[in-house]
Amino acid sequence: MARRHLHAVGGSEGNPLDLGLRDLIGSSAQTLQRTRGIRTVGQLLDWVPRTYLDPSRPTAFRDLPHGEDVVVVGTVRAATTHQMRNRRGRRLVVDVADESGGTIQLTFFKPYGHQDRLRPGVRVVCSGQVGVFRDTLQLTHPDYATVGEDGAGAADWLLDGLVPVYTATKGLSPIVHGQCLELVFHQLEELPDPVPAPVRAEVGLPGLLEAYRLVHRPRTEADHRRGRWRLKFGEAFTVQAQLARVRRSSDAVPARARAPRPEGLGDQLRARLPFALTDGQEQVLAELLGDLDREVPMHRLLQGEVGSGKTVLAVLAMLAVVDSGGQAALLAPTEVLAAQHHRSMSHLLGPIAEAGMLGGLAEGTRLALLTGSQSTAERRQALLAAASGEAGIVVGTHALIQEHVQFADLGMVVVDEQHRFGVEQRDALRAKAQGGTAPHVLVMTATPIPRTVAMTVYGDMEISTLRELPGGRRPISSFVVDGQRPDWVRRTWQRVAEEVRGGGQVYVVCPRIGDPDDPDLPGSDGDGPGVPIGTGAGTGGGEDGADLLTGPAAADGSEAAALPGLHGVHQVARCLRGLPATRDLRIEVLHGRMPADAKDAVMQAFAAGRVDVLVSTTVIEVGVDVPDATTMVLLDADRFGISQLHQLRGRVGRGGRPGLALLVTQGEGVDPSAIERLEQVAATTDGFELARLDLEGRREGDVLGASQSGGRSGLRFLRLARDEELIVQAHEAAWRTVEGDPDLESHPELADALTRLDATSAAFLERG
Ligand code: ADP
Ligand code: MG
Repeated sequence: MARRHLHAVGGSEGNPLDLGLRDLIGSSAQTLQRTRGIRTVGQLLDWVPRTYLDPSRPTAFRDLPHGEDVVVVGTVRAATTHQMRNRRGRRLVVDVADESGGTIQLTFFKPYGHQDRLRPGVRVVCSGQVGVFRDTLQLTHPDYATVGEDGAGAADWLLDGLVPVYTATKGLSPIVHGQCLELVFHQLEELPDPVPAPVRAEVGLPGLLEAYRLVHRPRTEADHRRGRWRLKFGEAFTVQAQLARVRRSSDAVPARARAPRPEGLGDQLRARLPFALTDGQEQVLAELLGDLDREVPMHRLLQGEVGSGKTVLAVLAMLAVVDSGGQAALLAPTEVLAAQHHRSMSHLLGPIAEAGMLGGLAEGTRLALLTGSQSTAERRQALLAAASGEAGIVVGTHALIQEHVQFADLGMVVVDEQHRFGVEQRDALRAKAQGGTAPHVLVMTATPIPRTVAMTVYGDMEISTLRELPGGRRPISSFVVDGQRPDWVRRTWQRVAEEVRGGGQVYVVCPRIGDPDDPDLPGSDGDGPGVPIGTGAGTGGGEDGADLLTGPAAADGSEAAALPGLHGVHQVARCLRGLPATRDLRIEVLHGRMPADAKDAVMQAFAAGRVDVLVSTTVIEVGVDVPDATTMVLLDADRFGISQLHQLRGRVGRGGRPGLALLVTQGEGVDPSAIERLEQVAATTDGFELARLDLEGRREGDVLGASQSGGRSGLRFLRLARDEELIVQAHEAAWRTVEGDPDLESHPELADALTRLDATSAAFLERG
């Protein structure tokens, strides 16, 4: 067949990967579309083999080692379906013989599709684990590929090198699929490669088309590894080039350099601090002040565990900006946190933030709070303070930068605990600064980020890390409590009461709010001794303890659908108020649907020690700091992710007393892998280790936050948990490339790949 010059088809701009298969391979294109939704060359090439078989090294049937994984080659002699005796359904049994005359049986409990392929006379390569059934060697549900009729010459690509095995697809014969690939490879002359030739030469990469060949048609193991590595590299390279360009565009708008005055407000705060900064904090502070003193906007991520002392550094940096005559804004993700920051910063700053007030520092500044729930008068006052420049630091929620808030001279924005800081917000920010300048931006996160994720998701930012907690902090001990064991759960509530008697405070975290009018947990209506969560007595569920954590659903099966069996804040609070162990404690609830002032009032009461037990949803996850909170009970803990659990328990043990986290599993139906996860969380307090574990258990789409856009993260082959070295290499090469050719004028293929990245995953860089 004559080769067509595919890059010319569809106009000179066209990328062969976008070509429709119909024109290339005719009617089989329909089959591919119907069975796999594959329409284009790119989609066909991106569907890579699941595994490979090596027919050149088959094991003779008579030597087959029982229980081991083998690859065998033979010819189908007979294929029969049997009705299964004890179960419904049929079983397909295929007899295969090899040259030495030995036979083996392939069995399939779901015969569909296999009958058509495994007809007598067909040669087949199969792999699986050798078993024995009634004295006959067997492979059950083996991977296999048919390689042509016996005697008739099979296609070269099947006899030469490894045999690719793809996910079995009903209605699509591997032979037809293989032929489609052959046709496409035959007609493709080259593919535009986003990775420039010099980079390929330097890293030792095959071209893109060659990589696809190596993956689909390898001769050796090393071939397909190399091909795959190359495909991953291409992805990493493209993403990194994108980040490099984002960074360049944010660098293009200048900032004003902000240097602290000697003996200025920053120095005064340092003199006031009741502690010395740790070495780690000093180092990060130097990084922040260094950034602020430049005319390129700071673009830095500060990561450090909850309580590692990020906030005090942010305040010192903001004071440097105030010292230079500018203003700083601190954005918190919730109103509760904004209010709390405002309070604790007022306390920290004292007279420094009381300029013009009695006892305030004459050369000091003011702190303003701006939230959506303020009264009109409060709001007007805060807006005025921001616009006039009277307030050097303005604390608020996102509304701060999204609404029509004016600043006199906004020099810096600190984004606290915020994982969703997107490009639009950045644009909104730029609009707030003066005279074509951009403010310096510092993003803080308490979620430790594995290096590969940091490079991929926050790759356009510099990163500072606080690795240790300031001295005196005791580690948190964590234990998994089996929610199906009434005695354990009962003990948990006793422990809560003991903790409060010892002067501590307790969080009880529930996965949902529930309804104030929800029926109580079983038995909790009475005030008798045999009451709710964890008492195990007098409940209506029947099986002992099974209803303790599942709510009324267990008592009345008909309600199972209405109540998902997870603990709601309201029921749990009511139960604890009735439970003998806890009924005398001061118990309050907190959740996201409460009005902001009510939330704030409860938080303040808890912080002031007027509440013993706070029953809440995960609204307390971020940033809340109550030094006397020593214990946290997490109900239905198996419902939470690793990072979230770690975040949550970081709320306790902040005041120098040891913290305790009790991870209570659901009453029933708990996934064993979820228990394992809880045990891992209980076993270590190293946030980076947990972040790595978390990453291993998740898909790239989740990590990158592209799950909203249908799981398309732009990453098909790259695995952030495994490909660190590759990502580092791609990062260096891509940043160098963009540096040398910012507009990508001499790299049109890369520019094109970036547009594709934009089109398929616009949400990708939005940080989830
Ligand atoms: P983060 O914002 O990282 O969660 P914070 O800045 O809120 O941490 O600090 C947590 C607590 O530790 C605060 O009460 C803070 O005043 C205190 N703290 C910060 N740095 C130090 C230090 N070097 N030594 C002792 N305590 C510190
Ligand atoms: Mg904080």
